Amino acid sequence: MNREQIAQEIIETCLKMNALGLNQGTSGNISARYQDGFLITPSGIAYEKLTPDQIVFVSYQGEYAADKVPSSEWHFHLSCYQARSDLNAVVHNHAVNATAVSILNHAIPAIHYMVAVTGTDHVPCIPYATFGTTELADNVKKGITYSKALLMQHHGMIAMEANLEKALWLANEIEILAQLYLKVLPIMETVPVLSRAEMQQVLEKFKGYGLRREK
Ligand SMILES: [Zn+2]
Repeated sequence: MNREQIAQEIIETCLKMNALGLNQGTSGNISARYQDGFLITPSGIAYEKLTPDQIVFVSYQGEYAADKVPSSEWHFHLSCYQARSDLNAVVHNHAVNATAVSILNHAIPAIHYMVAVTGTDHVPCIPYATFGTTELADNVKKGITYSKALLMQHHGMIAMEANLEKALWLANEIEILAQLYLKVLPIMETVPVLSRAEMQQVLEKFKGYGLRREK
């Protein structure tokens, strides 16, 4: 795909993210790997008004055109691309349920076998750092290295996948898992979880068959 096609797909993914109810205002941002860097949503423009030429290219050196302003959270997108050469798209948002769990500073444990969509047996919660800082980007880098999705303490979530469609699907799945977790948390003092052995089996199955998903 050329630059304009990827930019168009980023815009469509933003609009779908809104339609799924994952995003609060313009707080979310989305990017996709392109050549020696990535294309990312700009700062502070409503998704409905976005045009492909407004999508900003940021190089792996963190450079971008002087007349463009990428999302203030581009640092951690860069971290994601540096950490995971196997994945090519990042979705970030402040979805209500995922963010609520991040405020509790809980990882989502193996309450459901679908936590394996992260590539590990839970959804980690990375430590808080001020938005837009390299400190936050460093925390993201550590987390994304072993889990394709992260909760960010007092902030939101990140989902990284092979392409934009899968990254948005993953983000939605994390929001559903967060919703489930918040549903059972007030009822049980200790939330029941799947065993480590069972989660290993599920993780193996996910590897073997790929992710089967409904559209
Ligand atoms: Zn954010």
